[in-house]
This record gives sequence, C-alpha cells and structure tokens, in this order.
Amino acid sequence: MIVLGLDMGTTRCKASCIDATGQPQIVANRRGDLYTPSAIFFEDGRKPIVGVEALAEGLLQPEHVHTCFKRVLGSSDVLYTDVDGKAYTATDFQSIMIRAIKEDVEQRFNEEVDEVVITVPANFQDHKKQATIDAAQAAGLTVKKLLHEPTAAGIAYALDKKQDRCFVVYDLGGGTFDVSVMQTQGDSITVLNSTGRERLGGEDFNLCLEQAVVEQFAKDNGYTPTMDKDPLFFQELSEKVENAKIALSTKSQTRIVIGCRGQQSIVPITRDQFESLTKVLLKDTLDCTNQAVKEAGKSWSDIDTIIMVGGAVRMPAVQTALADISGIVPHCDIEPDRAVCYGAASQCAMELAKSGKTLMIGGRAIPTPKAFVQEVTAYGVGCCVAAKDGSLSNAVILPKGTALPTTRTDRFCLLHESQTEARIEILQGQEGNPRDECLSIGEIVLANLPVEHQKTKRIEIQYELDNNGMIRASGRDLVGGEYVEIAIDYCQGTKQQSTSQHAA
Ligand code: ADP
Ligand code: MG
Repeated sequence: MIVLGLDMGTTRCKASCIDATGQPQIVANRRGDLYTPSAIFFEDGRKPIVGVEALAEGLLQPEHVHTCFKRVLGSSDVLYTDVDGKAYTATDFQSIMIRAIKEDVEQRFNEEVDEVVITVPANFQDHKKQATIDAAQAAGLTVKKLLHEPTAAGIAYALDKKQDRCFVVYDLGGGTFDVSVMQTQGDSITVLNSTGRERLGGEDFNLCLEQAVVEQFAKDNGYTPTMDKDPLFFQELSEKVENAKIALSTKSQTRIVIGCRGQQSIVPITRDQFESLTKVLLKDTLDCTNQAVKEAGKSWSDIDTIIMVGGAVRMPAVQTALADISGIVPHCDIEPDRAVCYGAASQCAMELAKSGKTLMIGGRAIPTPKAFVQEVTAYGVGCCVAAKDGSLSNAVILPKGTALPTTRTDRFCLLHESQTEARIEILQGQEGNPRDECLSIGEIVLANLPVEHQKTKRIEIQYELDNNGMIRASGRDLVGGEYVEIAIDYCQGTKQQSTSQHAA
C-alpha cells in the first residue's frame, strides 16, 4: 500500500511516501533526483516530456517548453496547441506532471497508487483548488485532501518535534509566498492564521536580476534583446540567472556571461547588489509575516520558533531579515524543500487511519502519525450589497481565519419594495470595494419573489466551507420559500444545482 503526498510546486514537484518505520521519505524520480522541475516540453510538437529533460530541450526550442503554469491553474486559457490540434490548459499541464510523478512512484515501488494528498498554497482560490483536484483525477488519482502548503510543513515539524509550541511557518518557494501561524498542544495542531502572496517567489527574484542583466547588456552592446525577437537569449538568461542566484547564496559574488546576435557581455554581480535589487520583494514577505502574527492575535514574544520552508529561504538575506523582525533565529530542522511534502504524506496516512484502514508495508502494520489538524480559511467570503446611496460593499459572512469546516448564515433585505428577483453575487475577499479588492466567484439567483410591502431581512444566505476550504452556497427567500443551492464550479461557470419551492 502506498501512502502518497505530492507537493506540486510552481517550479519543482516533490513526492513523499510513508516508509516501513512510519516516517515520510522523499521518493526520487526515475532519474534519481529528489525533485522534478515543473516543466513540460512537447517533443515533435506532440509528445509531452517533463522535468529536467523538458528544460534541456527548451534551451533549443523555447516555444515548446512550458513552466510556471501553476500560476494560471484553473484558467480555461489554451497554453499550447499541439501539431494534431489538441489544446492544453494549465490544468492539463498539471495533470501531465502529476501522471509523470505517479508513474515514477509506481515504478519505484512496483505497485499502483490511487489516492493522494496534494498541497496547495494557503491562499489558493477555489477554482485553482478545483483545477488541482481535476488534474489529479485526470491523472488517475483521487485526492483524499488538499492541504495548505505551510500547514503541511507545520505538520511535518509538529510530528517531528512532539512539543507544545507556537510557531511561524515562512514558506518562500519558486512562485508563491505563504506564511502560517500555528500552535501545537498534545495531539492537536491548530492553524491560527494563514496568509501570503499568490505571485511572489524565487522566480520574481530571478526576474529582478534578469532585468539588470538585460540593461547591462544593452549598455555594453547598444542593443536591447526582446522576448519576441530573441527568445533563445531569454531562455539562456533565465537558466544563467537561476544559477547565479543560487551561487550568491553561498558566495559573495559571481558573474553572468551572456551573448546575443554575436555580441557578448560579462556581468559581475555581488550578493549586496542582488539583495538591493530584490529588497522590495523580501520586504513584502516580511510585512506579510508581521501581519500574520498580528492577525493570529500574537506578538513575536509569543512565538517559539520560525520554520523556514521553500528553496528560496536559502538566500542568506531571508534568514537575517527574519531574525531582525522577530528576535528569533529561524531554522531549517527539516530540509526546506521537503517539509511540505513530508506533511502531505503524513496527512495521507492520517486520512487512511480516519477511514479505518491500517497501513500495511511488507505484510506488517505500520504505525500512522496521530494528530488532529485544524485549518482556517485564508480569505473571507461575503456577498455584494448595495447601500441606499448606491455604493457597493462586501458583506462578509465568513471572515478570514474561520476554522474549517464551517457553515455560516446571514440575512438581508431586498433593495426595492417591488423587487421580484434577487441576484446575490458571492465575493471572495475581505471588506472593501467589491470591484477592486474582491473576486466574484458565483451568483445565486432567487426569482419569483412575492412582493412584500414591509422590508424585512427575508433573504437568507448560507455558506458552507468543506475540509479543503471549498465553498458551497445557498440562498433562501424566507417569505416565498424559493431556495437555490450552488456549488462553485469554475470550469463551467457557476452551476445551479437545485432549485425548489418550499412553503414559507
Ligand atoms: P516551489 O515549491 O514553489 O516550486 P521550491 O520550494 O521548490 O519552490 O523552491 C524553488 C525556488 O527556490 C526556486 O525559485 C529556486 O530558484 C529557489 N532556490 C533553490 N535553491 C536555492 C538557493 N540555494 N538559493 C536561492 N534560491 C534557491
Ligand atoms: Mg512550494
């Protein structure tokens, strides 16, 4: 029996299984690498290959290689059409990655895998979570649970340490930044708060450096390479910049040698220069971390430890800056690249135990980790309401930080006395202008409303968030009895699931 946890990172995917001692271990891919780059290349414009091979091919044919697609997961945009006219979305790409990793694990253990826990960023929107489930399904895996990445790292840490602690998980990966404040007490692991930036990771640090190199190249050679005219230059540059950044984590200086159209530049870079180019990005993560601690109702003096997770925390500036704002020396007791994946495998073992099964490896029953994990929502959910003056706002029904799973209800008046229809727009986000600061994620339409001459709070809205943090919404007219329930289904737009008339 294989208990599988997958950390499908923006830049690198990792797989972990519970071994015969009950501990999570990373499963190497068929090349023997501990991670597989999240990259797909279409050989002959048709056959997908993944990982290191895809990146290598991409150096020659950049138009056929795809990376960072996790950032647009859930969108219906076609990212690639192969020579046979087959169209691929980011969800299809994610599915190709999941299938490749699944096959590597199956080959390694000579056994089939059918269930999995997959990690997702804490602030991943619902349609992206749904896309993750769909991608796994298409790859032949049933998702037992989606686990927030920092929570997964926290679980790995808590199971390893077995001490009552209040700690911060700071996860700076390739594409996203997540921070969670967590507390452990006996067997219970509680997420007090989770927040993050959906588009902030090591890749963005690379972009700052890339820009500086292009500027230097232009200065040296009087020509500015552009993405559409010089795709090979940029493909090469992104690889060289990645290597330079990694070198600067252990060395105080390095250089990038790059050519384009027969001209060449040698660009020296010091760690100090790199840190000043990327200062704004780091500051953003620190502000976010301070905010997470505050929103958890804690101050730094309540925090015992900071756990650093994600490959990008290897940049020395991260550790120094975290120590500066917190007064705590952060640490990487568990390899920063592995903690999330370990937590996913442990969670998968716990899911197995929950369903009453025993994990058997080599004919022996394996002890599964015992913990009760309580997660919270990383964003609020409300609905769009109009004030008398016509201004719109988000009436938050389910505030950010609510423990999962949960159900919340609120009641509203109709705007006009003669109104016979109500359209309730479901908003993801906190208070603020719905058009600027919230995401519209669905609509409940209540029709045939009997006219009522005295205004009452007759429209009842209910939101239900499941264990994966995904929403179901319903609306009821308490006067006429009209009832509509919807599941947020992003692939086909919002789907009306059931409409029924009840007596009031
Ligand atoms: P994700 O899970 O988002 O794919 P990872 O946690 O695997 O991300 O981290 C990948 C990121 O970490 C990449 O942006 C990579 O450049 C960066 N990274 C890895 N090692 C180092 C290092 N030694 N120094 C700086 N950045 C690093
Ligand atoms: Mg990650």
